[in-house]
Amino acid sequence: MLESNYKNYKINAVENSYIEAENIVKDNNQDINNSEKLKDISNNQETSILLFDDSGSVVIAYGASESEIKISDDETYQQIRDYAPRGKIFYMTFNNNIGPMPLHDNDLKVVITDNSKEFKKISLDNVIICAKFINYKGTSNYLLVVESRLSPVAPAVATLKTQLVYISIIVIVLAVLFAFIISWQISRPLKDMTLAANQLASGKRDIKFIGRGFKEIDELNNTLNYAVEELNKTDTLQKELLANISHDLKTPLTLIGGYAEMMKDLPEENTAQNLDLIVDEVNRLNNLVNDVLSLTRLQAGTETFNLSVYDITLSLNDLVKRQNLLWESRGFNIKFEYDKNVKIEADSHKIEQVFYNFISNAINYSGDKKEIIIKQEINGDMVKFSVIDFGCGIKEEDLKYIWNRYARVDKNHSRTVNGSGLGLSIVKEILEYHHFEYGVTSKVNEGSTFYFVAAIKE
Ligand code: ADP
Repeated sequence: MLESNYKNYKINAVENSYIEAENIVKDNNQDINNSEKLKDISNNQETSILLFDDSGSVVIAYGASESEIKISDDETYQQIRDYAPRGKIFYMTFNNNIGPMPLHDNDLKVVITDNSKEFKKISLDNVIICAKFINYKGTSNYLLVVESRLSPVAPAVATLKTQLVYISIIVIVLAVLFAFIISWQISRPLKDMTLAANQLASGKRDIKFIGRGFKEIDELNNTLNYAVEELNKTDTLQKELLANISHDLKTPLTLIGGYAEMMKDLPEENTAQNLDLIVDEVNRLNNLVNDVLSLTRLQAGTETFNLSVYDITLSLNDLVKRQNLLWESRGFNIKFEYDKNVKIEADSHKIEQVFYNFISNAINYSGDKKEIIIKQEINGDMVKFSVIDFGCGIKEEDLKYIWNRYARVDKNHSRTVNGSGLGLSIVKEILEYHHFEYGVTSKVNEGSTFYFVAAIKE
């Protein structure tokens, strides 16, 4: 492309020079023998400007002296002259054997000289010539010739090729270096992350995934750090759970052990009252173990639910009667308010467990106000069950924690009342399994209402 671009550039330069030179020569007011303008054109465009008279003698000559002389050589000039169509610009070339010849078949002809050793005395390489007979000093036999020599392109191309090889080598080396740096930048944090992940897998928990460099890697590190945080939380929870359960098991066991020892050593302590205490503690232990087992099975998804459509009002009536029998000796009164019997689809035993836990809590947290109301309210095709107490209530900010196992309400885990600390978590698992809406409303010192809503089945 370089060669053809260069030729086109030169052809343009010659053409432009010619047009400007012709205007100056034709302008009678200008002295063309010593024209600064022609000199400038010749210099700027690197062209030679020549004017021949009728006889072939050079009238003016600006530009390269070598081509000027060659062109003005009699014979060459004669050939141009013979070839040139009168009154028109023409471009021509010299061919080794044929002499001047056109390249195109129209009036303006682009003609480029070859290296013409054999062609008479012309020993130019490539020359572009633009010539035309023009009117000057009253005759039309003056030939204005503008020509420019084409420098040989081959050496330039060879130089460029060598340079290109060097440039290519440098670019390849730089590209390899650059690729290496970038891949190193990507792989280094990935290596660190793999190391950290391996440590995490082997049980180390104080791991930090350090973000470095690329946005995606930073994001991944943040996500992994979040995962580590969550893992740590689960670990802590598990440890807390174990500690709490151990604590809850230890207290009744110590009591049972203590009473048994005392009753063995001191026969007068062998009373029904002390035996009752032991039985109470054993029951507590039993409840605790049952709760732990129940929650574990529920959370692991291994608990089986036997769903059936049953009369929940009937079952609740029965439960309330039993609970009243159990608690009335301690002054509690559990009321059941309902309009009519309804059926729902659920696991009746599990729902009974829900009511049992709600009622136990109501009793545990009732204080002196020993009234508990269980309400059944029908609303369209839904039924709402509420267990209402008038006890100590729950602080607004604690409400969201009470459904978690070992609810944070009781931070030191020093329960003054009965309970495993798992009751509401079991309730939550059961109600969520049934997709029943549930919740609690409470006011400190006024009481709490725990409720759930189920669909009525006919
Ligand atoms: P717990 O064995 O401690 O009662 P639960 O899971 O049944 O465990 O309840 C979690 C916490 O919610 C209780 O420790 C208590 O602080 C609070 N809570 C539950 N029911 C009531 C209630 N009816 N009145 C006041 N607080 C309650």
